[in-house]
Amino acid sequence: MPSPPYIGRFAPSPSGPLHMGSLLCALASYCDARQQQGQWLVRIEDIDPPREEAGASERILTTLQAHGLTWDGKVRRQSQRSEAYHAALANIHSQGLSYRCTCSRKRIHANAGIYDGHCRTLTPAASKPAAIRLNLDKAAKLKGIAPCITIHDDIQVARTDDVRAQGDVIIHRKDGLFAYHLAVVVDDIDQGISHCVRGADLYFCCASQQFLTQLLGGTPLRYAHIPVLSSEPGKKLSKQHHAAPIDDTLANKNLYQALRYLQQSPPSELSDASVSEILSWAITHWNRERLHGIEEVLLDSH
Ligand code: GLU
Ligand code: ZN
Repeated sequence: MPSPPYIGRFAPSPSGPLHMGSLLCALASYCDARQQQGQWLVRIEDIDPPREEAGASERILTTLQAHGLTWDGKVRRQSQRSEAYHAALANIHSQGLSYRCTCSRKRIHANAGIYDGHCRTLTPAASKPAAIRLNLDKAAKLKGIAPCITIHDDIQVARTDDVRAQGDVIIHRKDGLFAYHLAVVVDDIDQGISHCVRGADLYFCCASQQFLTQLLGGTPLRYAHIPVLSSEPGKKLSKQHHAAPIDDTLANKNLYQALRYLQQSPPSELSDASVSEILSWAITHWNRERLHGIEEVLLDSH
């Protein structure tokens, strides 16, 4: 049987410009797709306006272009996808699988952060702000989806999670915003994404996302979680913590360094090569085996 086409993606949130850690995700997902003659899409995950930084999405795209990371088709912006997310919520609701939850953060904290399904059988007043949660037990039973999910990642060691361990997943937030899991899954299905290469900090949420994917009729993705880049052990570089933005005028140096962090051992002659020469080497030599089981790499201090 022919394998389905490879469609990969890079899905940054515009909470700030790209830093070296996000460049690793962009480059790894790009090389993985291009080596397999796949498509590589870019999706701006701008569904959280309070966390967005003005101008960040344009800056991210400029950085990708400066680094020769050319995407296929048009950039998708999640801010323009409300209708699709509403339709998914309506679909879940019409099957009786979701419910409104007015529980306070305090109440959930008091239960070690695990949601106990308190509102499953209540009908909070429509005027009260409420999150919408997916009733996981009911969805699993009604749709025959196994709640214990094992992910055979292409980089990390396999992990098994019971989606119910953290309690019913929020699919629409109390503040009126769409939940990250819902939006990611709806778009991955709609765009026909077959492979997801991203940071290991998101490995823990694969089970929830795969469960939602199955619920919404999609095909589970193949995952490869690359190590996160940290300034010191356990301290991931992040846009929120103002990691140094990528300097677009040093694109070839940045790519070379990114390949080193990705354990690809680029030859030293390549350090002065052009962006296109580095990328062409990177696509040919890309080997995710070299990252096997590595969850974190540390930023060079020099
Ligand atoms: N938008 C998410 C982030 O920037 C990534 C989502 C994903 O790759 O699944 O952390
Ligand atoms: Zn509740």
